[in-house]
Amino acid sequence: MADPKGFLNHGREVAKTRPVGERVRDWNEVYVPGSLLPIISKQASRCMDCGIPFCHNGCPLGNLIPEWNDYAYREDWAAAYDRLHATNNFPEFTGRLCPAPCESACVLGINQSPVTIKNVEVAIIDKAWETGAVAPQVPERLSGKTVAVIGSGPSGLAAAQQLTRAGHTVAVYERADRVGGLLRYGIPEFKMEKRHINRRIEQMRAEGTRFRTGVEIGRDLKATDLKKRYDAIVIAAGATTARDLPVPGRELKGIYQAMEFLPLANKVQEGDYVTSPISAEGKHVVVIGGGDTGADCVGTAHRQGAASVTQLEIMPRPNDERHPVSQPWPTFPILYKVTSAHEEGGERIYSASTTRFEGDEDGNVQWLHLAEVEFVDGKLTQKPGTERKIPAQLVTLAMGFTGTDRENGLVDQFGLELDERGNIARDADFQTNVPGVFVAGDAGRGQSLIVWAIAEGRSAARGVDRHLTGASDLPAPIRPT
Ligand code: SF4
Repeated sequence: MADPKGFLNHGREVAKTRPVGERVRDWNEVYVPGSLLPIISKQASRCMDCGIPFCHNGCPLGNLIPEWNDYAYREDWAAAYDRLHATNNFPEFTGRLCPAPCESACVLGINQSPVTIKNVEVAIIDKAWETGAVAPQVPERLSGKTVAVIGSGPSGLAAAQQLTRAGHTVAVYERADRVGGLLRYGIPEFKMEKRHINRRIEQMRAEGTRFRTGVEIGRDLKATDLKKRYDAIVIAAGATTARDLPVPGRELKGIYQAMEFLPLANKVQEGDYVTSPISAEGKHVVVIGGGDTGADCVGTAHRQGAASVTQLEIMPRPNDERHPVSQPWPTFPILYKVTSAHEEGGERIYSASTTRFEGDEDGNVQWLHLAEVEFVDGKLTQKPGTERKIPAQLVTLAMGFTGTDRENGLVDQFGLELDERGNIARDADFQTNVPGVFVAGDAGRGQSLIVWAIAEGRSAARGVDRHLTGASDLPAPIRPT
């Protein structure tokens, strides 16, 4: 702890965002370029190097936060980078996308604002890329073993990188036309520019990882054929079955899953379209779901020129006097969160349940009917007499995911057992009921955070390495649930 009084001398200061009027006219990241590094030393100095660093408990990767805070305070970027990469393959992703359970757990948060751990993380890794410190780590010798990874989201990429560096020959299969999974097509450019994925993929290619895009295992290539070709398989295909809303009018045109809406906006940024085939331009948009994906829909609708944007959340707003929900430290702030997208406009309605959609004579959605809900005997219940309707010419459903895709045949072709939540069951080594077939990320854990996905990928890689060689030095930061 280099500055014992850092937290007394300096308040919390986060990265500056560009003015709303400027940033909604483009798709670049919302932060002011270059504004972070000048404040990082002071911000890192606020870390108290706690005897029991609760930030560790908050982070499933076991990030060495007090250590790299200290190096960042001293502006020893090489050492900070070394400590950061010791536990996290992709800090540029987590630093931008993770909702930072580490900050919610930070001890300083008891009576001050917590340390800006995410900002420090981003500053260290961006500096490392800028100075050429992020180099490929090519294995010294190859094991002669082959591994197929199904899915190229954060979990699959982490597993692939760990296994490649351990000397195995790894091929990543991705059903989309580009590598990255949800990072590529689910996360809008204004939250994380895709150049961050591209340069990481180049590093992985240089290390020896191979990528096969446009191949869906189960449909384009039978899972059983894949198993014959490889010594081990890691399924990191995500939990892609989206929760739906079976209310009257759901069949109307103009109602889409968030993962139909967001990928097309991202494809515009990739140059595949001039304008999105599902555009919010000039429309009254309603986003159903108050989480991060919902916020991504809100920000995307703003940039496409929506006439209005309304986000519905079925849960009450915390600290609403009618439905008090307290959030004492340390908690994860899932219930009420203001993202950059919410600063850009729109309305948020809490305790709202959609009762039906109403359309015009051509079958296009025009109105959304909602009712206020409240907890009665622990159950959310509609309040009589509160129904009203709001204009809705484009609706996106962002209500989460319920489990593994059963449609493409992957689960049945492998003969995989599922757990009671519909996720692929696995043992303590992340191995499924089929020997040599492992599962990592949302496909095994269920929908979760990017930081958990990376931790899953790292941990599953250890299980695979042990399976292939009988022992492993790879880290396993978490156990499967
Ligand atoms: Fe530093 Fe907060 Fe972690 Fe304590 S809990 S070591 S103050 S980041």
